[in-house]
Amino acid sequence: MTRSDLPGSPVAPGRCDTPVDDDRIREVSMDLFLDVFFEGEADEELARRAKEDLVAEVGRLAPHITLNVDVLPVTDTREWRNQDVQGQWFNAWYHEPSGAGRQSLLITDRDIGAVEGRGTGGYAVVSMKKMAEKERGGGYSVDIVIHEWIHTLRGIEINGHRVPFVDCATEYDFECERGPNGPDRWTAWYRYCLGARATE
Ligand SMILES: [Zn+2]
Repeated sequence: MTRSDLPGSPVAPGRCDTPVDDDRIREVSMDLFLDVFFEGEADEELARRAKEDLVAEVGRLAPHITLNVDVLPVTDTREWRNQDVQGQWFNAWYHEPSGAGRQSLLITDRDIGAVEGRGTGGYAVVSMKKMAEKERGGGYSVDIVIHEWIHTLRGIEINGHRVPFVDCATEYDFECERGPNGPDRWTAWYRYCLGARATE
């Protein structure tokens, strides 16, 4: 996660909710629905792999969530120009979900700036180049995908609390986990965002 990786919707500072006590979380199964959009035929396989990796990661971190993913070719990519929470203008692309009650994630080979992706309530975009870079550097591209996907879930109630703004980890006193030679990961934070108990 990088601080420059902030969502497009203008969100006021002080936007983080109060953390929820672990013992208040009751894990109730729920379904979420995501469209993963790819731009060219050659990208379909990568999109399918991204789907499998995300579903596996969500199954590991938040097994109470059944994530239903459709992998679809783009039909209506839209330009996304907005200000991030620091007030910086950015240009990216997004795709509307295929229906109500769904989120969307566009995987793009286009230039979206230096960020790994962008996300806001309902939709997100991830950079293919950054996914490949992450893998080359020994990291996991799913870490980019899950981060942007959690942006799309902001405000949805899971297990009695709303999915927080995913860039708020440190405000909630979460830290990244560092492997000896591995990449930084935020699995404990993502578990929290997705309404899982910290302790199994
Ligand atoms: Zn972010």
